[in-house]
Amino acid sequence: MLRVVIIKPSKYGVNGHVERFRRGLMPNSTVPYIRSMTPDSVDGVPVETYAIDEYVQTDLGYLDLIRSPAQPTLLALVGVQSHQFQRALDLAAFARANGVRHCVIGGPHPMTCDTRLLQNRGVSFALAEAELIWAQILRDAIKGELEPVYGRERRWAEQLQSPVLIPPSKRDLRRYLAPMLGIYPARGCPFTCNFCSVIKIAGRQVRSQSIETTMESLRNAKAAGVELVMFTSDNFNKYAEAKELLEQMIEENIGIPFFVQCDTQVAKQEELVSLLRRAGCFEMFVGVESFNRKTLLAARKAQNHPSAYSEIVTLCRKYAIFSHFSNIIGFPDDTAGTIREHLHVLRELNPDVASFYILTPAPGTEQYDDFLAAGYITEQNLDRFDATVPVWRHPNLSDRELVDLLFFCYRRFYSTPHLVATSLKTHRPPTMGALGALVFSLGLPLFSRFEAMRRTHPMCGGFSRVRLDSFFDYRDLRKKQYGLERVPLPLSLELSKPDLELNRRVKLAQTR
Ligand code: SF4
Repeated sequence: MLRVVIIKPSKYGVNGHVERFRRGLMPNSTVPYIRSMTPDSVDGVPVETYAIDEYVQTDLGYLDLIRSPAQPTLLALVGVQSHQFQRALDLAAFARANGVRHCVIGGPHPMTCDTRLLQNRGVSFALAEAELIWAQILRDAIKGELEPVYGRERRWAEQLQSPVLIPPSKRDLRRYLAPMLGIYPARGCPFTCNFCSVIKIAGRQVRSQSIETTMESLRNAKAAGVELVMFTSDNFNKYAEAKELLEQMIEENIGIPFFVQCDTQVAKQEELVSLLRRAGCFEMFVGVESFNRKTLLAARKAQNHPSAYSEIVTLCRKYAIFSHFSNIIGFPDDTAGTIREHLHVLRELNPDVASFYILTPAPGTEQYDDFLAAGYITEQNLDRFDATVPVWRHPNLSDRELVDLLFFCYRRFYSTPHLVATSLKTHRPPTMGALGALVFSLGLPLFSRFEAMRRTHPMCGGFSRVRLDSFFDYRDLRKKQYGLERVPLPLSLELSKPDLELNRRVKLAQTR
C-alpha cells in the first residue's frame, strides 16, 4: 500500500501566520488534476490518495496524514508558486521529521527557478508538468527511492494528455464560496508579456486536451454537485477548439455557469462571445493591465490596445456576461497621477468587476531577471511575491504610496453608485440562479470594498481568516532540513532545447 498525500500549500502572511479561510474564494485547479492522475494501484500495489487545499483547512487534522504514517507515504506539494515555496518546504520538512520518506515539490516555482541550493537534502523537486513525470514519481515511491529531481530535460509535453477529472467530495466542495471546480481545456499562451510566468510554466504553444476529456470532466462535475466551473486556461479565446467545446456544452445542456479568461482580442470575436453566453458563461476575466499604450509596449504586451477595451464591456453587456478587468498598478513609468487617471478611465468604461494588483517581478520571468540584475528588488522574503505588496524600488512611488493607491483604486471603483447600479442590472447568465447572480454582482464587490477599507487585498484567498499555526512553528524544522532560515532569492531556470524548440513553433498567426 502507498499513501499519497497531495497538498496545495498556503503561504505565510505578513505576521508569519499560515493563511487559512473558512470559505475559499476559488478552488485550486492543480489538486484535482493530480488526484485524478493517481491510479488506485501502481504495479499491483494499492494506492490510497488524499487531496488537500491548505488555504481552506480550518483545523490541523490533515497533518496527521504526514505524521508517523503506518504505511509508506508520498507527500506531493503541488502548484507551488514562489510565495508558497517556503511553506511547501516547511511542510516537506515537517513530513520528513515525522517519518515520511518521500516528498516532492512541484509547480511554477520549481519549474521556473533554480532550486539547486535545496536539492539532495531529502526533498525532491519536479521541474516539469505532472503529465510528464507523475507516473514515474509514483513508481519510484513504491520502489522506495525518489530521484532528487524530475523533469530536468523538458518542462512540457508536446501533446496535452490530461485526465478526466474526478471532482472533489461534497465536503470539500463546501469549503468554497460555491461548489466550484477548475478545468483546463488548454494550456499555454502565444504572447510574450515580460511580467508573466504563464509562458514559462506552460509555454507559448497553446496545447489542448481532447474535447471529450473536458466534456467528461464537466459531466462528472455536474453529477457531483459542482455549481460553478472556472475554465482556468489563460486565453480561452486562443484555444482553437473553443467553439467546438461550447457547441457540445450547449447541445448536451451542461448548464453549469462558468468563468473564462480571455485576452483583449476577444473584442473582435463576437461569435465566440455569443456562444459563451449560450453555453453558460457568467464572467469573462480580461487582463487589461494598463490604459497607456507605451506602458503596455514596454511590458511587451503589444496585443493590448486600450482603444478596444470599451468594445469588450459592450460585448459582454450585450451577451449578459459580467466583464472583469484586471489592472496592474506600479509599472515603472507610473506616477500617482497616471494611476488616478487610469482609475478615472476605468470607471468611465464601467466593467462590472475590477481587480487591482501591484506590479511584481515574479521569480522566473524576464522582468524578474531584469529587475534583479538592475538591483531594483528590495524584498528578500519570497512569501511577499504575491502581487499584493511592493517588492521593488519604484522610481516614482514609495511603497506606502503604492499600497495607498492600490486600496484607493478598490474603494473608488466599488463606490456606492457602482454597487447600486451593478446590483440593479437585470442581465444575468441563463444558467445562473438569482442568488448566484446577486453574490457575483453585489456580494463580491461589497466584499472587495470592505477588504480594501481594512487594507487587506480582496484576492488573498477567501473569507474569514482562521489562524492556527505560523512560520515560527516550523522555523527549526526548516533550518534542520535545508540548513537555512530563509530561502534566498533564486535565479531563473533556463528552458531546455526541446522546450525552446516547442516555443519557436508557435505560429505568428496566433499572436496577431
Ligand atoms: S497574455 Fe496573459 S497569459 Fe499571455 S503572456 Fe500575457 S499576461 Fe501572460
